[in-house]
Amino acid sequence: MSDALWFFAKLECAACGCVTAEDAARLYSDGLNPGFGDEARRIGESFNAGEENFRDAYVALRPWTEGRIRIVERWECPRCARIGWAKIELAHEGHTWYRFLSAEAVDLTPETLADAHFLSRRLDFDVLDLSPDAIAALKASIPPMD
Ligand SMILES: [Zn+2]
Repeated sequence: MSDALWFFAKLECAACGCVTAEDAARLYSDGLNPGFGDEARRIGESFNAGEENFRDAYVALRPWTEGRIRIVERWECPRCARIGWAKIELAHEGHTWYRFLSAEAVDLTPETLADAHFLSRRLDFDVLDLSPDAIAALKASIPPMD
C-alpha cells in the first residue's frame, strides 16, 4: 500500500498564462509515497521512496546516472483545468532518499521525453489535446505500459 507524493511548485499554464500557487498545481505522483496517506514536499525538501514506489508511480524510460533524476508528471491548471505536464528534477541522496530540486511546465513531446528517466503512469491519451500523429510519435517513444 502506498499513496501519493505531492510536489509543491509554481507552474505556468501554457493555455491561460496563469502561474499557480505552489500548492495549487495538483502535481503529484501516485504510489511514490511508501507511507499511508498523501505527503507533500516543497522545493529543496527530501523524501524516502523505494524502487517499488518508483515502479508504482512511473514507467521507466531509461536508466538514470550521476545522481540526477528527471520525471515527467501530470498536473492540472487550477484556473482553466487544462491537463499539463511538468518536468520534475530530483537529486539522489543515497539509499532510498531523494531531494526535490525543481519542477517546470513542459509540453508532452518526444523531445521532452528524450532526456527524462521516468514518465507518469497517469498518462491518458484521451485527455491530451494532440493530433493523432503527435500521439503516435509519443507512443513510439514510450515503452509499453504494463
Ligand atoms: Zn490554465
